[in-house]
Amino acid sequence: TPRVFSGIQPSGSLTLGNYLGAMTKFVDWQNRGTHETIFCMVDLHAITVPQAPDTLRHNTRELCAGFLASGIDPEKSILINQSRVPEHAQLGWIFNCVARMGWMGRMTQWKDKSGKNAEAASLGLFAYPALMAADILLYKSTHVPVGEDQKQHIELTRDIAAKFNHDYDVDFFPMTAPVIEGAATRIMSLKDGTKKMSKSDPVEASRINLTDDADAIAKKFKKAKTDPDPLPGTPEGLEGRPDARNLVNIYAALAETSVADVLAANEGKMFGYFKQDLADLAVSKLSPVSTEMARLMKDPAEIDRVLARGSERAREISVPVLEQVYDIIGMVR
Ligand code: ATP
Ligand code: MG
Repeated sequence: TPRVFSGIQPSGSLTLGNYLGAMTKFVDWQNRGTHETIFCMVDLHAITVPQAPDTLRHNTRELCAGFLASGIDPEKSILINQSRVPEHAQLGWIFNCVARMGWMGRMTQWKDKSGKNAEAASLGLFAYPALMAADILLYKSTHVPVGEDQKQHIELTRDIAAKFNHDYDVDFFPMTAPVIEGAATRIMSLKDGTKKMSKSDPVEASRINLTDDADAIAKKFKKAKTDPDPLPGTPEGLEGRPDARNLVNIYAALAETSVADVLAANEGKMFGYFKQDLADLAVSKLSPVSTEMARLMKDPAEIDRVLARGSERAREISVPVLEQVYDIIGMVR
């Protein structure tokens, strides 16, 4: 069976960017039923930057609640946390030995997240894309739905697969395709329209979280950065206006319509009013999800059972694949 794999880090609370750019796509793939779907809370990735243990535990369970509340059905999809399936880390090590330092050094996420003081960044942050390749290829996944920011990592996954296949003269790992589609592949920060909205952004007002209540959502949109001009009638009028473009784009994604249609209906409106409409729309779309998340979080034992069951199912696939990899590379078994 062809497989779809994707992951989200329990590095904070889910954002509107994660929801529109990733989660809703995952649900589409699951419900299409054409592929086996595996979704992962990538806790090993999260610790590439410091995470307090209790916060990490809470965020992992809350992320699982987010998957379930968004429509991931643990009977239809395999839902796991990465550390529970040890083959991720094991294949990750092997890929550390396949990937080249130069490839990793060119990753823009590494450059962004290591910042000005790369010497102080963890080795894990540098190696992150090799572990991500392992997450994907452990299940021989062919399609990976992600936001725009992950495109480069999926290309690196292909490079790792190709080098492994070439070095060992096998046709073992498939070439994975990124699936980056729809209006919401890159939701931007509410405080800086040139920067991606991220759950680990230290500026709380930069993002909408799925755990925000109606009041918080309204306030954050109200304070979102814009320019003094009203909404233009066509998308060309948003050129050079990244903050304005982002708000219109978020509206279009939430309303499941196009930017052109949103502009046609709102030409000449001032952003002060448009932001109120946007907040109302966001609340109506997100509150059923956040209400369900809060309900699920009242029973963490049930969440843990879902993850335990998911890891059993995942290991039916991952254990034999890792065995074959060890055979190919010459480990005595
Ligand atoms: P962090 O700040 O810790 O990196 P994040 O918000 O970037 O968190 P990730 O767990 O790294 O979230 O990514 C999970 C998925 O969400 C990926 O597929 C990623 O491409 C997607 N994604 C993240 N941010 C956005 C965004 N602003 N717009 C669209 N998709 C996004
Ligand atoms: Mg990220």
